[in-house]
Amino acid sequence: MRLEQFGWNDFFARHLPQDAVAGRVAAASREHFLVWTAETEIEATVSGRLRHSSTEWPFVGDWVVLRQDSPVITRILPRRTKISRKHPGKEIREQILAANIDVLFIVSSLDRDYNPRRLERYLVLASQSAVRPLILLNKADLVDEAHLHPIVAETRQLSVGTPVVPLSALNGRGIDSIAAFLAAGETGALVGSSGVGKSTLLNALLAEERQRTYPVRRNDQRGRHTTTRRELFLMPGGWLLMDLPGLRELHLWADPEQLDTSFDDIQLLAGNCRFRDCTHTSEPGCAVRAELDPGRMANYRKLQRELAFLERKDDAVSRMEHKRKLKQIFRAHERQQRHRSKP
Ligand code: GDP
Ligand code: ZN
Repeated sequence: MRLEQFGWNDFFARHLPQDAVAGRVAAASREHFLVWTAETEIEATVSGRLRHSSTEWPFVGDWVVLRQDSPVITRILPRRTKISRKHPGKEIREQILAANIDVLFIVSSLDRDYNPRRLERYLVLASQSAVRPLILLNKADLVDEAHLHPIVAETRQLSVGTPVVPLSALNGRGIDSIAAFLAAGETGALVGSSGVGKSTLLNALLAEERQRTYPVRRNDQRGRHTTTRRELFLMPGGWLLMDLPGLRELHLWADPEQLDTSFDDIQLLAGNCRFRDCTHTSEPGCAVRAELDPGRMANYRKLQRELAFLERKDDAVSRMEHKRKLKQIFRAHERQQRHRSKP
């Protein structure tokens, strides 16, 4: 295989040290990584330096540098894009979900899961990650055509220019049209609630023969059973698709300003409000309230609050760290003074 088939390009090549071996992480489980190189698929671990680093860690989709003589990841090449969310739980920190993604496949199903507010949240995720969104409305076989059209039209309104494709992973409708949204070597990532049909879709796209990138080995070199779950798939059409399993909660990790890209219609309408400083709550002559879907406005405010909260917390954390650092400097200075004043 050529690395280009896995998405390698000049961007990564520029950062690769001479004679180094590069590979792409196709799956990750704890400290074990399945890596695709030009020659083979190997199960790799990370170097001691990476293990002790608090900032550098490989994620699925990453391009990494491997040791020449052993399956050890020593470096992670700079990411072109990354998808991250707020770490689930109380801590305020980023959790990277995937690296080097070109297209975010936002999957919803046309049953009870269909929820424009959730789609808006995923659209913010795409915009914050600088990846192209593609909305897939699965299970189109469950609704009749007369009902399908208004839903597709409503979905198109959520984001001007974002393609919306109704499809059925079950009967194959619309499946063939997906490949047109990615060039060879580009990588898509599947997101959406559980049950919307992501696995069914992945299998339909992989086609019946389930093309394998490299022959599957049951055991790695040391004879251990390999349990790493594959997450990156090479599609018959030459592009790649990543499954993001277990994405139950999606708390955003973004700057509040980033919302305005996804909700640019609010800014646009606000230009027509009677008052320049209109808050779009109770003012007369408010174009936003008159024109915008109240559900969309409410969601905008909700996401705004969510991101403002992150920012406040983030500030509190950095203030604390700043204080701690100052203290350290002060103490070091004190020690030095004491040392100097000794006879
Ligand atoms: P995932 O959790 O998103 O991976 O969803 P699955 O692929 O496991 O699918 C959940 C359920 O929806 C399964 O019972 C599928 O057979 C069903 N399903 C998936 N795609 C379709 C579809 O296009 N139409 C219908 N009617 N059912 C579907
Ligand atoms: Zn207004």
